[in-house]
Amino acid sequence: MASAAWNVAMIDGRRYVPIADVAAFYRMARVVSSAEQFKLASVSRVIEGKAGTSEVRINGVKYVTCFPMRSRAGSVYVSAMDVTKIIEPIMRPGKIQGARPVRTVVIDAGHGGHDSGAVGALGREKAYALDVALRARSLLLKAGYQVKMTRVADVFIPLEERARFANRFPDAVFVSVHFNKSNRGGTGIETYALAPRGVPSMDEENLRYSDFKQNPGNVRDAENIALAAAVHSSMVRYLPVPDRGIKRARFSVIRNITVPGVLVEGGFVDNRLDARYIATADYRQRMAQAIVDGVKAYTRTVTGASPQPSAVVTVSEPLEDEKPAPTPSPTPKVGEKTSVDADAAKVKIAP
Ligand SMILES: [Zn+2]
Repeated sequence: MASAAWNVAMIDGRRYVPIADVAAFYRMARVVSSAEQFKLASVSRVIEGKAGTSEVRINGVKYVTCFPMRSRAGSVYVSAMDVTKIIEPIMRPGKIQGARPVRTVVIDAGHGGHDSGAVGALGREKAYALDVALRARSLLLKAGYQVKMTRVADVFIPLEERARFANRFPDAVFVSVHFNKSNRGGTGIETYALAPRGVPSMDEENLRYSDFKQNPGNVRDAENIALAAAVHSSMVRYLPVPDRGIKRARFSVIRNITVPGVLVEGGFVDNRLDARYIATADYRQRMAQAIVDGVKAYTRTVTGASPQPSAVVTVSEPLEDEKPAPTPSPTPKVGEKTSVDADAAKVKIAP
């Protein structure tokens, strides 16, 4: 980005830019632009947000921003960190430097053995996570990916070992499958990408010293958020529960991996409605399909490569035009429906 194009303002000791600059850079119309809120639109994209909140929507998918948006001089300002770490990789995934073609998917079923994870009235997280992981494996194999599982049985695997395992496959992306539990009550799905250096983890108002440490996974910041966007927007389409958004954390499994990775939370086992869904095979099949669809969308939009590396299975999805462009181009279709939806639509959810 040419820094000359940005009117940087210091707010709370951080670099912020006015939303007009974002609109100009990505050649978007300012459909709404007041001191309190904004909505930018181009042919294929819509970005919306409000001052004072930490939630930006891009093509309807919710992202928790690194820092809250601010109101100043009649305009909403967004932190430069959020432009760099969220908006840019989501707007132009084809321009992410160093993104590698994906041939392998490491699926990590959370917990296992003596670690049950979240326990609800209808079941345990460790069993649900493994079931989704196994379903995803068979779908990924059909799509031509190599699949590596951190576990295929009810066994305990230390977190560090899961990350070490993933790092053995440099052509991989990593998806850790979990379900949620909340003492304060919660419902819906959320996806975590590693917090960039200097960004607080979720639910922490203030930065801690450890937030400034560079973690191995931070070399993949752009890919991490692009993968989170692809997988999460797919889950939002497939699953009939609320969207809690894409969030940031420094969980061990996503902190210590050197391949792009995300951690997905497929609903709350202690929420009555979520739990009833999660207990059905149909819901877990949908979640698996959503993960696979997301990985395929990531492969296509970020690396411009065919999602079927072996080219054995049908190639039904058209490749996107991913030529590098000096100006924003209607690149990824993350967040839009793909042909895979037709299959998923056949799956019936009976709550
Ligand atoms: Zn978990």
